[in-house]
Amino acid sequence: MESTCPSCELLITQQRLHPYLVNISSLQDSQLYKCRCCNSYLHRYLNQWEIISIGYYDERQNPPVPSADAGSDTAASGPSASDRTLVPGRQ
Ligand SMILES: [Zn+2]
Repeated sequence: MESTCPSCELLITQQRLHPYLVNISSLQDSQLYKCRCCNSYLHRYLNQWEIISIGYYDERQNPPVPSADAGSDTAASGPSASDRTLVPGRQ
């Protein structure tokens, strides 16, 4: 389900800026924004707004949790059973 947050809907319908916008790029007459709330990409051109890419907005207001990188756990081989040296002398 793709959806925009209420702030972005107000932005499109009423040209009302909201604090979740992050400016990505600015050209002379156009700016590109990304909404941190719903991850939509928005384009502003001569005070006209359009949605380039619709993100996803969770109405339960769960902030997107960045996934903890789980990958490398193969370097945990301490000294275990390799110190069984043969003791000479007892025969
Ligand atoms: Zn938004």
